Amino acid sequence: MQSRYFTLNDHPKGMPTAELFTLEQSELPELQDGEVRIRNTWLSVDPYMRGRMDGVTTYIEPFQLGKPLDGAAVGEVIESRDSRFKAGDKVRHMGGWRDIAQLPAEQIEALPTFDVPVQAYLGVLGMPGTTAWVGLNIIAQIQDGDNVLVSAASGAVGSLAVQLAKAKGGTVVGIAGDQKKLDWLESIGVKAVSYKDKDAKQLSEDLKQACPDGFDVYYENVGGDCLEAALNNLRVGARIAVCGMISRYNDEGLSAGPGNLAMLLVRRARMEGFIVFEHWQHHNDFMSEFGPKVAAGEIDYQETVAEGLEQTPDAFLKLFTGGNHGKMLVKL
Ligand code: NDP
Repeated sequence: MQSRYFTLNDHPKGMPTAELFTLEQSELPELQDGEVRIRNTWLSVDPYMRGRMDGVTTYIEPFQLGKPLDGAAVGEVIESRDSRFKAGDKVRHMGGWRDIAQLPAEQIEALPTFDVPVQAYLGVLGMPGTTAWVGLNIIAQIQDGDNVLVSAASGAVGSLAVQLAKAKGGTVVGIAGDQKKLDWLESIGVKAVSYKDKDAKQLSEDLKQACPDGFDVYYENVGGDCLEAALNNLRVGARIAVCGMISRYNDEGLSAGPGNLAMLLVRRARMEGFIVFEHWQHHNDFMSEFGPKVAAGEIDYQETVAEGLEQTPDAFLKLFTGGNHGKMLVKL
């Protein structure tokens, strides 16, 4: 059986382009004992993949040039030589960026059985959802009544973070990039602020207008001007959960930090980065709490779907231009 998969030709310099990716095809080796063959139905593209393209080990191994890329995917087992899986099982695994995956059974998990579309396990009930939950509950230690600011607030992580924060009863403000996203945030009761065509000073003033009392929690997905503006609007004792800094991922060389880091001191605030996989022991808590809510339609989760394996690089690139609302997915 043939598998089609993407490889990376070179390490991107700055913003990657579609030409860096090649769609290749090869015959899969014979299925061995303990292995499972899966037809992928949905692929996830995620901002962290950009860091893996630089050829440098960080908290995760880099992608190898010329080798199949990987990432989260869900699919259906088509052949199994492991007693834990049988043909027809719906599974999640890291053999993405391809149509057919062949993996050791230990690297595959059966999908939970909530009444949700399977692709939800790549987004709202997958890694992004868990990230929102961990960032707010474990890192920021959100309390009832906290005022919360979230950047990239209409994305996969941010759109759930704002809803988790809303449930705590304080004012929630979301930063996003276009009118449709701002309207969506307002529709779920979140005060929406655009960051487009503004410097940090203007953004800072707009955040102050949206939440004059300041923020107890900043859920950081973007960095740059968003961070600087957020620092100017912290309350005493604020917590910043540093989830991501997507505005910096395509920078060449080091970029200047915010000039107002001293606000951490002035407001006696704490800023802490985290990697969700180091907190995966909370995934079950998250699923027990949110699986039923998502299944009951109580969480408004959005998806942007690209159709066809060939679209995977474009779908990935859209993450850096705001071309997605909610979870960016590829449907095969
Ligand atoms: P999103 O679905 O939020 O997609 C990325 C969004 O970021 C875009 O839609 C865009 O929205 C916004 N964006 C892109 N470039 C810029 C920019 N230059 N300035 C401001 N906003 C920008 O992605 P995820 O939800 O998957 O990830 C969100 C963040 O969380 C990322 O930083 C990611 O790296 C991080 N992350 C961290 C994890 C961890 O373990 N720490 C795990 C998962 C994600 P807009 O239209 O509003 O500009």
